[in-house]
Amino acid sequence: MRNPSWRTELTLLAALLMAGLLAGGLLGRPALGAAIGATLFGLRAIANLRSLHTWLTQNVDSEPPEARGLWGDLFDALYRLQRRGRSERERLRRLVDYMRESFSSLPYGAVMLDPEANIEWSNRAAERLLGLRYPEDMGQQLLNLLRSPEFVAYFEAEDYSKPLEMASPAQASRWLEIQLTFFGKRSRLLFVRDVTQTHKLEAMRKDFVANVSHELRTPLTVISGYLETFADNPDQLPPRLHRAVDQMLQQSRRMEGLISDLLLLSRLETVPQKEEQVPLALRPLLEALADDARTATSGERTITIEADDSLLLVGQEDEIRSICANLVFNAARYTQPGGRIMLRWYADLDAGYLQVEDDGCGIAPAHIPRLTERFYRVDDSRSMDTGGTGLGLAIVKHALLRHQGRLHISSEPGKGSCFTCVFPRERLVTR
Ligand code: ADP
Repeated sequence: MRNPSWRTELTLLAALLMAGLLAGGLLGRPALGAAIGATLFGLRAIANLRSLHTWLTQNVDSEPPEARGLWGDLFDALYRLQRRGRSERERLRRLVDYMRESFSSLPYGAVMLDPEANIEWSNRAAERLLGLRYPEDMGQQLLNLLRSPEFVAYFEAEDYSKPLEMASPAQASRWLEIQLTFFGKRSRLLFVRDVTQTHKLEAMRKDFVANVSHELRTPLTVISGYLETFADNPDQLPPRLHRAVDQMLQQSRRMEGLISDLLLLSRLETVPQKEEQVPLALRPLLEALADDARTATSGERTITIEADDSLLLVGQEDEIRSICANLVFNAARYTQPGGRIMLRWYADLDAGYLQVEDDGCGIAPAHIPRLTERFYRVDDSRSMDTGGTGLGLAIVKHALLRHQGRLHISSEPGKGSCFTCVFPRERLVTR
């Protein structure tokens, strides 16, 4: 037997039995003597168990009870285990305190939510930005405290790939950026930061563009008016000015187009969408635009329409017209005479699709992700020649966003391009 404690224990049992046998033998009752020896051994075990029980249940933090042999070893081993557990608990507690402390001092707000969206913990910044109260709001459902419809929609959609911007529920003048992520078993972590300054700058930029565009419109109208008068009466002008007047008129028209696109874009960005929206039939709209595009290109493009007439799109008519017009005129501009343009309107089980396909010059893949940026052009000189403003696809993107739609572009240089506007099913009505 390798463990000396076991040896001691067995030796004690053997000694008690022997002593019992001997004493019993002297009295002529050896079995009774041995039974008394075994009982004494058992009583000792019971007494030690009792001390162990009292120690574990009443005063586990104190030193273990005194005992010898195997019992002593057992008590010591339990005491060591317990001390190790205690110091591990202490280390973890310090780590949690440290983490909380560091999260608390973050300039960003952080809120930890359990799988039922109850608040488990929040830091000071979150309390300040979101108006949460500590400790009263701990354990409360977050959606009972943050009830703004845009937050509820963002929270419940569970698509947290992009952050949400909204006014602070604690101070309406402040703007917040909120980002959620899942962790563990559907617990959520909410991060919030104050973006009031960025928001203000962005609002100033939008106002500035809108104001400048607006202010430029009046003088430009006067200039264009005079130039048109000159152009209409060429015989009253010295011949050497004919070309100059034509060019000035052309450029002032381009500028008018630019200003009206800038104004439209800033309206799309700033003015909230009208409440009432009507189901629109797209074929008449596409037919009218196709006619305009044919006229603009002197009938040198073949434009075909395939539209599902039973399918209506719920939306803002002028914005939908803008989307279609920009795509159709781009297709006409970036296609050679003799080119073919296909306009389609159809739906499947997932969505509605408005598609403009051409067999024109196409676009290299590297440019595609940037086409909807303002003034981004694949080929500056070509776009200028075609009279583009560089804002067409930015307008398409913003108008689509207001209809919860997105733009998908596929293209191959030299073969043609296909621009598809994807509208969610909720925007479709069947006639
Ligand atoms: P622009 O007024 O210059 O046409 P847009 O925003 O409408 O501005 O388009 C951005 C750029 O995308 C264009 O300059 C052009 O290079 C490219 N583009 C748009 N539509 C087409 C198309 N159908 N075929 C080829 N290139 C296109």
